[in-house]
Amino acid sequence: MKEFFKKMRELAKPFRVTDGDGFRLKDINPGDTLNLKSEDKPRAKEALAAGIQALASLQDMLYAQDRWGLLLIFQAMDAAGKDGAIKHVMSGINPQGVDVHPFKSPSVEDLDHDYLWRCMKRLPERGRIGIFNRSYYEETLVVRVHAEYLAKQKLPPELVTKDIWKDRFQDIRCFERYLVRNGIAIRKFFLHVSKKEQKRRFLERVENPSKNWKFSASDLEERKFWGQYREAYEDMIRQTATKDAPWFVVPADNKWFTRVVIVAGVIDALASLNLSYPAVGEAKLKELAAVKQALTKKGR
Ligand code: ATP
Ligand code: MG
Repeated sequence: MKEFFKKMRELAKPFRVTDGDGFRLKDINPGDTLNLKSEDKPRAKEALAAGIQALASLQDMLYAQDRWGLLLIFQAMDAAGKDGAIKHVMSGINPQGVDVHPFKSPSVEDLDHDYLWRCMKRLPERGRIGIFNRSYYEETLVVRVHAEYLAKQKLPPELVTKDIWKDRFQDIRCFERYLVRNGIAIRKFFLHVSKKEQKRRFLERVENPSKNWKFSASDLEERKFWGQYREAYEDMIRQTATKDAPWFVVPADNKWFTRVVIVAGVIDALASLNLSYPAVGEAKLKELAAVKQALTKKGR
């Protein structure tokens, strides 16, 4: 197992950002598959299956130990494959130990609170994995790209200064540090898709009846802001990638590759927690021995 964990760590490493200084999005190619070619796809699928199995056993220990929690955050442009990645990567694990929360446009009640409020309510308990499909990071992405969302937030005007994004990044860094210090580990995944591949996937959604439901005209609208989103994503990673709460900038033009990198990142996170099943004390061992004896007595 140790060897496998090491391999997973190495696979995810080129995409892990633990210090945002000097990070540039253009250094990561959305079409990257490391040295794997499309004929290696079956091997990558096998690695994914093995990864999912390993994830299941780590999750079992996380749950039994009931000390750590794990928060996984997924951010991306539309059609980058967040939903599919979450579905595949989590397919083998016990549904009792995982919660997935999508964050869409905030409700009236959400807007009556500070921006972290709705996310705080959904944080994972100890022993569990919490998945945020979009998150408080939207507060530095869509809200930054579209000024009208910020205007709707009912903030006292004197607090809306030119420093607002810098302030938000600081809030987020402090919030994540607080969580990590409380035993909630954090890994953040940005699925980095190219504009060309997004176009291909949008066309597929338009042309394939079983995918029509996934397409919304507003997705096309957001595509017009591609450059601004790119800048916002880059700044977000620069400002919030830390050793304890790293970003993984995952090439997302090839789904088979994206999923392997994500599963590797999640395994690495769990493996770094040194999980183990709770040890049973002397008294409990005696009790178990007595139960065994009672159950194996004739006539029981
Ligand atoms: P997704 O687009 O994540 O696959 P979806 O299409 O099912 O999910 P949408 O109705 O598109 O769901 O909701 C996601 C939208 O909500 C995104 O466009 C996102 O930018 C927006 N959103 C999320 N958080 C916020 C926020 N804090 N303020 C404004 N808009 C937000
Ligand atoms: Mg959408």
